[in-house]
Amino acid sequence: MRNGTGTFPFTLFTYPKCLMKHFNELEKLSLVASKTENAVIITDKNGFIDWVNAAFIRISGYELAEVSGKKPGSFLQGPETSKATINAISAKLQQQVPFTEELINYTKKGDPYWIKMDVSPIYNPQQECIGFIAVESDISERKQYEQQLIEKKISLAYAQEISKIGNWSFNISTYDVKWSDNLYKIFEIDPETNTLYDAYINCVHPDDLPDLQQAINDAVTLGKDYVIEHRIIVPGNEIKFIKGIAKVAKNIHGMPVALFGTAQDITIEKNYELELLKAKEAAEMATVAKSSFLAMMSHEIRTPLNGIMGAADLASKACMNSEQAELINVIKKSGKTLLKLINDILDFSKLEAGHVSLDEENTELLSCVQDVYSLLLLKAKEKNNELSFSIENKLPQFIVADGNRLKQVLINLVGNAVKFTDKGKISIVVTQEKISNDNICIKFTVTDNGIGIPAEKQVNLFKEFYQVESMKSRRFEGTGLGLSISKKLVHLMQGEFTISSEVGKGSCFAFTIIAKRGENLVKGATAPQQVIQKNELSHLKILVAEDNDINIFLAQKLLHNLDIIPDIAKDGLMAVEKASENKYDIILMDIHMPNMDGHEATKTILSSLPKEQQPKAIIAMTADAFKENEEACLKAGMNDFISKPLDTDKFYAMLKKWSDFFSITERMAI
Ligand code: ADP
Repeated sequence: MRNGTGTFPFTLFTYPKCLMKHFNELEKLSLVASKTENAVIITDKNGFIDWVNAAFIRISGYELAEVSGKKPGSFLQGPETSKATINAISAKLQQQVPFTEELINYTKKGDPYWIKMDVSPIYNPQQECIGFIAVESDISERKQYEQQLIEKKISLAYAQEISKIGNWSFNISTYDVKWSDNLYKIFEIDPETNTLYDAYINCVHPDDLPDLQQAINDAVTLGKDYVIEHRIIVPGNEIKFIKGIAKVAKNIHGMPVALFGTAQDITIEKNYELELLKAKEAAEMATVAKSSFLAMMSHEIRTPLNGIMGAADLASKACMNSEQAELINVIKKSGKTLLKLINDILDFSKLEAGHVSLDEENTELLSCVQDVYSLLLLKAKEKNNELSFSIENKLPQFIVADGNRLKQVLINLVGNAVKFTDKGKISIVVTQEKISNDNICIKFTVTDNGIGIPAEKQVNLFKEFYQVESMKSRRFEGTGLGLSISKKLVHLMQGEFTISSEVGKGSCFAFTIIAKRGENLVKGATAPQQVIQKNELSHLKILVAEDNDINIFLAQKLLHNLDIIPDIAKDGLMAVEKASENKYDIILMDIHMPNMDGHEATKTILSSLPKEQQPKAIIAMTADAFKENEEACLKAGMNDFISKPLDTDKFYAMLKKWSDFFSITERMAI
């Protein structure tokens, strides 16, 4: 372009020969070439370089003289230059049409750089192509950014693929939905799908859809983020589990404007979880089966044991010589050991199955410890041991705790201390550890100066059936279950166990429990031991419903001692029949009987007989040891429960209790 003074801008260069005759075009191009930072190449119509500008020389490192008359491709292109782009450029030059391409060039030194080239044909006034002008901008930096972006996208895509996550966004006002590539893969939806939201909703499992739609609705209308797990059904009817998380973006007024979310395919984890659940259920069922097997076994063992112990008990009360008495004593002792073993195994299996719950009630701390003390005092004395106990003054008199379970642990520890100590001292010390709000941490410490336990064996003490002395050399009785049961019970009472022991010096077992302060009750005088006179209960009319001959014999024997001649029913049906013919004071009802069991018989008696004909009390008499069974008996309408093997004193005390109760109620009725 000519300027006002007629100055020609291409002052630094010789004008290209081919362009001399086309001065007007040159004028225009020269202005572009002089002002631009971009490289400019002008070629003749066959593509041979006529001229390059200073920027080209700077960028490429070639001088005009070196490139003049050469085709640019012959020296600017290199190994990384795309062949396809080169072919496209050739075609466009042939067609003499303007075009834009991006490709890699090489400097004179051999360094690659990216250019964007805008090529235009140059026409003379007769519209004949006389050459080409290529304006090239260095886009290396942009290409580098683009490359980084691509790499980031690729790594994000990989991350999404590896973690089976896809992400999405939803514009609430435009309904515009965007999905990442992996989301399409997870949902197995065609990326060309226009109605993406509908496609998504359509594959959600119908059972899970209402909750999902509610969550989406709450997010869009109330701005509530959500995390939801739901199933989808993909082509081939395969079910996948999806964990969906959505966050709501809000405007400055707090109104929801968009949702951003992720969906993760958690099918493998979920299936794994389901398998674990199934395995857990199977294991639980196995434990239940084991538990009920043990309960059944215990019932089966207890029934003959009842016979052995009851007969031994009766025999011990009869006159006999000392040798006979000794033999009977062995039977009684062995029976007791066997009963303890059965009880321990049952207790352990129930604790292991998590079927033990605490019966927490107002419990007097002192009487708990005193009971344990009195129970074991005789044994301690037999071994020339001194047994003592102390309770810290600041402890409350009453606590809310399961007194029986607490005593069970203490009896085990003190029993062990007595067992493993000779001519020594055993102490039970109860102290207050901590107190927070109304929770009191109470510590029970049982110390002895007996045989002690080697340090390396102490870690095993809470394992079931573990005993320090090996089977062969064992001098002490025991099941090896006491401490593992105790530990489980202490955990139930939210406490901890500690042990310290030294061989030859003695042992110290301590445990804590957490209990609430109980209600202070004025302690009445303890009931004196009941002595039942012969004839005292002879007025009672009793029916024994029992199928086992030995048990019938024992019950008859016990009752004969009280001058009671009971009626006998050998199954539930017969019991109902007898109850309808006679008015009994007490029916002693076995549970497991042929034809009709004890529960059924009780229900029938209570529902079919008129009130005045019904027995005054039905007492379950069974070898079942579980509390649930006791509850089931009461539920069936029975009034009380006594477990077999029958303890003579307890049995008589039970009859006395009910006899007293009948006379009180009779007197009150007057
Ligand atoms: P058991 O006493 O019925 O064998 P435990 O579980 O109560 O079962 O005790 C396990 C073992 O721990 C005992 O057999 C004994 O070897 C050891 N043990 C427990 N208490 C003491 C103690 N006070 N002194 C020495 N050894 C003890």
